[in-house]
Amino acid sequence: MTERLYYEHSYLTEFDAVVTDCVAQDGTYRVRLNRSAFYPTSGGQPFDTGVLGGASVTNVEVIDGDVWHTLSAPLRVGETVHGVIDWARRFDHMQQHAADHMIAGALHHLMRGVTIGLHISADISTIDVAMPDGRTHLTPDEIETIELYVNERVQRDVPVRCWFPDKEELKTLPLRKEPTVSEHVRVVAIGDDEMVACGGTHPASAGQLGLVKILNTAPARGLMRLSFVAGMRAFRDYRLCHAAAHQAAALCSTAVDQLPAALQTLQERLQAAEATVAKLRREGFDQTAHMWLAETVGSPRVIVKTVLADANVLKELASRLIAAQGVIALLRAEGDDSTPIVFARSQDLPVDMNRILREAAKRFGGRGGGKPDFVQGVATAQTLQEAEGLVREALYGNAL
Ligand SMILES: [Zn+2]
Repeated sequence: MTERLYYEHSYLTEFDAVVTDCVAQDGTYRVRLNRSAFYPTSGGQPFDTGVLGGASVTNVEVIDGDVWHTLSAPLRVGETVHGVIDWARRFDHMQQHAADHMIAGALHHLMRGVTIGLHISADISTIDVAMPDGRTHLTPDEIETIELYVNERVQRDVPVRCWFPDKEELKTLPLRKEPTVSEHVRVVAIGDDEMVACGGTHPASAGQLGLVKILNTAPARGLMRLSFVAGMRAFRDYRLCHAAAHQAAALCSTAVDQLPAALQTLQERLQAAEATVAKLRREGFDQTAHMWLAETVGSPRVIVKTVLADANVLKELASRLIAAQGVIALLRAEGDDSTPIVFARSQDLPVDMNRILREAAKRFGGRGGGKPDFVQGVATAQTLQEAEGLVREALYGNAL
């Protein structure tokens, strides 16, 4: 069995060990040592990376109770090799792992919540918690209470102790929950009110966590999933939020603490402005439709227009025009080549607008469709002209 050096020495970054096995597998090499400071993925804490005997360590895992290192190059069995841990990665994991214990301890102490699992990802960490009343959220006040409880202990720099108690001592320890293993139980205590069985690596004292911040809580598989950051992750999050808040405050010409009120005022003004614009648009459409109807002679009236507008405006105008009796509206948006069109007619006219568009588009380009009295699509200027001819032919016959 590999001696796990990180149990006793979580700050050990370099070590020498003898290679006991080296197995080639899928272009990589799996290596076992007589001793190792590399942490294998377990208990929610990801594996360490680094260099072993000159080769990159790309994975470390526990297989059948022993530690196996995945390497980019083979090592000779029997050889003594030097290992170097990527300390920035490991220390970050130590900070997140200890923060997990402290948050879990606070949740248990203050709210009788039972933490089930830890997951440390690249940016944030999460724990899943079974709350006594089955809740899947904490209120902002509760989050603040948990954060204060944890950070007060970080500020006091309470000690972190990891050790293997014997069976007698283990029985007397106030562990937060039952150990999942029965042999060689390792215990991690943080301060005087948090103690749990754990095989992970932790800083020597809570002050090294710097800052612990809960990001949010959300339901996950019937439990409450709590996301948090600690150490440099918390610092980076604070820096990001600080910069974003100050930029937003500058844009609103206000102070950071006035931002929510300023944004609410802006939102209300925007809603009022949108309502005014919508009203003006409606009035504008009504006026335009009225004007076009008034200036068009004949019965039925054929209104052909190319306007600076989008498809929605064409639709609005067309529906107003055909609300009157005996009207055919052929509307096209300004522009070269194919632009949006709406061909529509009043209910009392028998012309199939689908046919008009199809036949006109066949010769001069375009496509679209809809109901017999209202079609939308895209078409060229010549298609519009052709459609007008087809409509007049349908309405007045070839004689005209
Ligand atoms: Zn742990």
